[in-house]
Amino acid sequence: MSSVGALYLHVPFCARKCAYCDFFSAQTRPDDPKLDEFVGRQLALVRRFSETGLLSDCVTAYVGGGTPTLLGASRLARLVEGIREACPHLEELSCEANPDSLTDEVIDAAVGSGVTRLSVGVQSLEDVELERLGRLHTAAQAKERVGAAVASGLDVSVDLMCAIPSQTTRSWDRTLRDVVSLGVGHVSVYPLSIEEGTPLGRAYVDPAWNDEDVQAERMERAAAVLESEGYSRYEVASYAKPGRQCMHNQAYWTGVPYLGVGRGAASMLDGNLYDTVREVYGWLPMRPRDCARARFSTLDREVEFLSEREAWAEDLMLGMRLTRGVKVAEVPPATVSELLGRGLVKLEEDRMAPTHDGWLLGNELYGILWDLAG
Ligand code: SF4
Repeated sequence: MSSVGALYLHVPFCARKCAYCDFFSAQTRPDDPKLDEFVGRQLALVRRFSETGLLSDCVTAYVGGGTPTLLGASRLARLVEGIREACPHLEELSCEANPDSLTDEVIDAAVGSGVTRLSVGVQSLEDVELERLGRLHTAAQAKERVGAAVASGLDVSVDLMCAIPSQTTRSWDRTLRDVVSLGVGHVSVYPLSIEEGTPLGRAYVDPAWNDEDVQAERMERAAAVLESEGYSRYEVASYAKPGRQCMHNQAYWTGVPYLGVGRGAASMLDGNLYDTVREVYGWLPMRPRDCARARFSTLDREVEFLSEREAWAEDLMLGMRLTRGVKVAEVPPATVSELLGRGLVKLEEDRMAPTHDGWLLGNELYGILWDLAG
């Protein structure tokens, strides 16, 4: 294999930090000249990777953040056009967006430059909850902007967050139903994770509104509402109308090698691809002889080398995030029996798939599979 299947480009800028966020992103304004330099630097990097042949068969790209829409229409178009040139065989190009910077001009630029899919960070459609999360948009603004994105013909996904401050079972239901009424093809749902060092982390230690039972109840409610509206859950946190699954995220869960560009991006590569990437990322160390796969982040520059066995265990673990699970023949019979005994998996024809409990107790399920790495 000489090309990655997926490219991720990280845009580490936001208009303001959200109260729960520990992602790598700096607060800035849309007229900051640093944004022009940033686009130029990332495009130069993408071109260098393209020259090595590393992007020749890349089928999905994802411009994430941060807030890519903060770049504004012309910078975003430049970036996306550059990615399109560098990856001639792209079938999907997603871009993350926040409602407050998703202007009509940005939507037009996204459509015109070759974005196919917008993933909008909505999180909630209740003003009081948005305020507690430190989000910049209101519920009305989010609805209006998502509606405009859907009307543009782009494939639109919405991210929602549950087990957040001020949220109740009823307000969560309203948010889910309001999102459905916007006509989006894809919804991702995550329980809020309270991280140390963030304003929310400083204000709360294990609050009742975020405990595991609340998280489980909200995730179950999301499944019930979204599935009754024609969305299928294809991954633990992802729901899609027919044909609207995210190719890029599926690449992450099915062991497709991916390259991350920009500070804050992660990569996962087999040995040969790693050697090629080393030609551009000169800071990467030599790989050890038994390396089947390397994972690294451009933020902390930490590289993890995986042996064949570890890469296999990781693929099983990632595969169990998906509704269809993994081929049962790939799992040792004793492990299949143990997981069946604990009610974490079920067998469906030749596949082993997670049960509802398997998803709720994901750490237990993934831990047993990761133990196979020895
Ligand atoms: S918009 Fe996203 S990346 Fe930016 S501060 Fe909020 S959660 Fe973090």
